[in-house]
Amino acid sequence: VYNFAAGPATLPLAVLQKAQAELVDYRGSGMSIMEMSHRGKEFDAAIKKAEADLRTLLSVPDTHEVLFLQGGASTQFSAVPLNLCASPASPADYLVSGSWSDKAFKEAKKFSAASLAWSGKDGKYTALPPPAAIAQNPDAAFLHICSNETIHGVEFKDYPVPANKHALLVADMSSNFCSKPVDVSKFGVIYAGAQKNVGPSGVTIAIVRRDLLGKAQPNTPVMLDYKTHADNASLYNTPPCFAIYICGLVFEDLLAQGGLAEVERKNQHKAGVLYDAIDASAGYFVCPVEKPVRSLMNVPFTMAKGADLEKKFIAEAAKENMLQLKGHRSVGGVRASIYNAMPLSGVEKLVAFMKDFQARNP
Ligand code: PLP
Repeated sequence: VYNFAAGPATLPLAVLQKAQAELVDYRGSGMSIMEMSHRGKEFDAAIKKAEADLRTLLSVPDTHEVLFLQGGASTQFSAVPLNLCASPASPADYLVSGSWSDKAFKEAKKFSAASLAWSGKDGKYTALPPPAAIAQNPDAAFLHICSNETIHGVEFKDYPVPANKHALLVADMSSNFCSKPVDVSKFGVIYAGAQKNVGPSGVTIAIVRRDLLGKAQPNTPVMLDYKTHADNASLYNTPPCFAIYICGLVFEDLLAQGGLAEVERKNQHKAGVLYDAIDASAGYFVCPVEKPVRSLMNVPFTMAKGADLEKKFIAEAAKENMLQLKGHRSVGGVRASIYNAMPLSGVEKLVAFMKDFQARNP
């Protein structure tokens, strides 16, 4: 089966097999890692190794903490302004390039004086702005972006330069985290739900610049204060142990593949094969996203002949074991999510099916 879901997504088969082999008896301990104390030596080694491998993968500098959190990326929509804005009256800039950054912006308004630096809504979220079009407030605490809009398929290739007094850029990287190298030093906070590229749902990773810790608004819940988790090495309370363990296995797998430069090369090739097939279909399949900002991870497309044929396409693909190709309920159409763990063979099978379907349904 090829799973084209936007999340939770396919994990590397080798990772699932390793987890299966270790499930009941973790490395000779006689117990599952799910049953172990999060303060015991086995889990301690697992979380430390996961953090060290993630640091290697992304070249995370010593200036930044790596935190394993809960509550999904959605919880970070409030945690970010609570930690980075001195008060609910503090300004913050939000660049809205799709549904996820719009949700982040709406949540931030409760905890900051968030304002809209740019919106792609009028263009149906198919483009990103040139730097001059981003209306930045020099007094803003940070500029927030979503590096890859999972529903609309819009991905930043270069990041905007924050013009605020703290030069702080914050990114929701949920759907392209660890899909390519990133210069972490450019960001104040990066956060990502794990369930696309690096693990199961249940763990959210935040990479936070250390000098930003300890400045949360006074009423910030203890669980949303980054300092709580930084001071306790992500063990303030019971962490999502099993999810962190699986992330650790995924990080090992990504390193074994040659690291994120190699992972990016594979992702560019896979996405290229799919976009080329869409563009070569003489308008039969249409990707609305402007070419320079097309996502390597989520490829939305429609069919010129309408929604009924799209339904047929999705149903027939499912019969051939290509699953979850339906576009998000808010935009319709078709969406193929092709995260790290989607093999090239899955994309090639989809492209062959698209050509065949077009020939059969002219
Ligand atoms: N941000 C982006 C870009 C997403 O794709 C998602 C989920 O798909 C979220 C945030 C919300 O993540 P969670 O479900 O972990 O709260």
